[in-house]
Amino acid sequence: MAAVALADRLATGTVLGAEGYVFELERRGYVKAGAFVPEAVLDFPDAVVELHREFLRAGADVMVALTYYAHREKLRQVGRESDLEAMNRQAVRLARQVAAEGGALVAGNVCNTWAYDPRDAATAGVVRAMYAEQLGWAADEGIDFVIAETNDYLGEALIALEVIQELGLPAVVTLASTQPARTWDGYDYVEACKILADHGAAVVGLNCDRGPVTMLPLIARIRDAVDCAVAAQPVPYRTNETSPTMESLRAEGSGRVFPLALDPFSCTRFEMADFAVAARDLGVTYVGICCGAGPHHVRAMAEALGRTVPASKYSPSMDLHPILGTAAPSRDRDVLDAWNVSP
Ligand SMILES: [Zn+2]
Repeated sequence: MAAVALADRLATGTVLGAEGYVFELERRGYVKAGAFVPEAVLDFPDAVVELHREFLRAGADVMVALTYYAHREKLRQVGRESDLEAMNRQAVRLARQVAAEGGALVAGNVCNTWAYDPRDAATAGVVRAMYAEQLGWAADEGIDFVIAETNDYLGEALIALEVIQELGLPAVVTLASTQPARTWDGYDYVEACKILADHGAAVVGLNCDRGPVTMLPLIARIRDAVDCAVAAQPVPYRTNETSPTMESLRAEGSGRVFPLALDPFSCTRFEMADFAVAARDLGVTYVGICCGAGPHHVRAMAEALGRTVPASKYSPSMDLHPILGTAAPSRDRDVLDAWNVSP
């Protein structure tokens, strides 16, 4: 199945993105929390393929090559610098393999490097070289566009954008929004998106960190400020005004819950479906989900956007449930009462 280009999809409908690969593969036992380096790309490629396929079946339009944190700085930290090229190339091959099964697009992926320092001009060159080698390999393997994401600094995002443009590829550039209003180099998030759009990014916006409730108001302001397409990919966690990001969420008595104890704050599939519709209604054309995502979220989002996807074959039919469905009246009264006890 041939893939329709990103620009055409954005012009005619909503592109659905599914990310959070590193988080999900960590939960499945294939990625080490802390470092969060996607070693599974080389060590357990079948696990990566499986997750790609689950997101594809759930309706994702883009298979994002799992090169998040597969950059030189991170691989050095885990002692796998010699695997750098193999990991980056293999990640694109796995994404391509699954994308071809459903006409999805393939995105190359770079992220914040932790090597950028706006006060030290030399770091810009280091970052640029890291992006250039990762994306050079990705372009060589064959990608449709690039997502540069979780950018804490506008300066670092602009370096990624430049490298992507030098490769002649469309760029989706999204910011991390861990601070209340500004990037780490002091740009208001809305202004930063405007600058990225002015520099030629095809899509700008936010991903990760914020849940739907705290991302939407900021996204609405970004949507109003730029002419290009906008992306919104929140984490499926119940962030709020006091704790606008998953990093700032706190559980009573036990303190910080990021990143390993976020489960009680998880959004349901219905909340993510509502988010998808709300984002679309704001004029967001690249709607997605980030760390914490499961295929059930993605399918619910796709269906809320009016689609029937391969995994819809197994979407809920609660009328078939023995207690909650149409057969319930034939059940023993005591059984029904046990389900209906209210405190
Ligand atoms: Zn994320």
